[in-house]
Amino acid sequence: MIKIENISFDHCIKCTVCTMYCPVSQATHLFPGPKASGPDAERLRIKNPELVDSSLKFCTNCKRCEIACPSDVKIAELIQNAKWNYLKIHWFRPRDFFMSRTDLVGGIATLFSGIVNFIIGLSIVRIFMHLFLKIPFRTVFPKYEKTTFRRIFKKELRWSQSEYSKKVIYFHGCYVNYNNNSLGRDFVKVMNALGYGVEMKKEKCCGVPLIANGYIEKAKKNAVYNIASLQKGGGDSKIVATSSSCTFALKNEYSSFLELDNSGIADRIEFVTRFIYNEFLSGNIPKMKPLGIRAAYHSPCHLERMGGVMYTLGILKKIPGLELVVLNSECCGIAGTYGFKNENYDISQSVGKSLFNLIDKAVPEFVITDCETCKMQIEMNTKYKVLHPVTAIAMALDIK
Ligand code: SF4
Ligand code: SF4
Repeated sequence: MIKIENISFDHCIKCTVCTMYCPVSQATHLFPGPKASGPDAERLRIKNPELVDSSLKFCTNCKRCEIACPSDVKIAELIQNAKWNYLKIHWFRPRDFFMSRTDLVGGIATLFSGIVNFIIGLSIVRIFMHLFLKIPFRTVFPKYEKTTFRRIFKKELRWSQSEYSKKVIYFHGCYVNYNNNSLGRDFVKVMNALGYGVEMKKEKCCGVPLIANGYIEKAKKNAVYNIASLQKGGGDSKIVATSSSCTFALKNEYSSFLELDNSGIADRIEFVTRFIYNEFLSGNIPKMKPLGIRAAYHSPCHLERMGGVMYTLGILKKIPGLELVVLNSECCGIAGTYGFKNENYDISQSVGKSLFNLIDKAVPEFVITDCETCKMQIEMNTKYKVLHPVTAIAMALDIK
């Protein structure tokens, strides 16, 4: 049955702006583009699901087409829905299974991080992964931490948080928990400098990698768990996340794509830079000392989709001594787990090429971006270290 909220395809005015903005249709002739695969094909798919074609798999779900569309057609959502409802890819795919089970893999890998980090860096293991798991040889996986951020918070940070009368609930996401504990520490430091104590609720992976790999039922289960947990006893405190993709999922995709009721939390969810921007705007700006660095800023696609880039730029401009080069809006090409697959590797590299060139031309000391997978892609393809905006603020707070 066609649901009334899913007929946005009927608003298409056939202007083809979306196709001009789609980085994948620019990079390969194998993908006909958002207009053809989205609203045009949806009319045929509704009549006959067998008319679906396998080129849908090339869409990265970057959502740049939706940003460009003047008629608010949910193009990427139509394509994702069609991909997983009609293509019916049901066979067991070990690579996709493990890439999307971030809590399972991260939980085990942090327990044995020394050996895991050593093994995944070995050339012979990378050749094996290339041949048998179809993971590109050039992939550099992020290192696993020795412990989880949740354990660090419980042991070292939680006790001091009751000193603050105001509080935020932190949705840390898998990357901070298993791969980048220091971003979690920076978040607590910055919130405390703004006069907020940090609280954490139980959480599961937000579901972004599950959705990207077609495990929709499991993504729904995680979403139901997160909605219930974040609703419990938080009052009207903001729920703040440091990952732009987690924020987009919690705030938008839980209701629009997974068709769940997230109304109890949606208005309280903020991406961290918007939260800090509003504090700065109200005059709550902590003392910062000049950083003395030149950085290039890359805006992630999902943050652009949420209209959040202006908040990140707003707070970065308040950091003294930060010379910022704002790069043209370009997709980095990694799109979560998309670029970690042999069959997508060439497209992913071709999409990201303009961004890598822009970064090189800017000659920065660091790159700043809000998204963990953009960070991975940029660090794999340029010589620059990538910082989160929160880390840049924490660095300015740290300077004695
Ligand atoms: S989501 Fe991205 S890759 Fe997919 S059709 Fe839209 S612009 Fe193209
Ligand atoms: S941008 Fe929107 S209205 Fe224009 S062709 Fe694409 S889907 Fe249709």
